[in-house]
Amino acid sequence: MRKYTRNGDLETVICNGCGKKLIVKDGILREGVLRLDHAWDFFSEKDGEVHHMDLCEDCYDQIVRNLRIPVEIEESTELL
Ligand SMILES: [Zn+2]
Repeated sequence: MRKYTRNGDLETVICNGCGKKLIVKDGILREGVLRLDHAWDFFSEKDGEVHHMDLCEDCYDQIVRNLRIPVEIEESTELL
């Protein structure tokens, strides 16, 4: 989950998985995080809901380890 200042700057990022507060400095997140923003559609049971969450890298790794089929990984051609 994320909190923003009144000015719209990023203030706090907390991992939805473990509750860990991630490092934010000068409005910039300084740790790896998986941000998920998903608008559920008509074919789901959550039609009309938009879900947001953040997962720290440790929680992401834990989830990925339990997947039956591994995630697809490729080299990024552009540095973000
Ligand atoms: Zn976590």
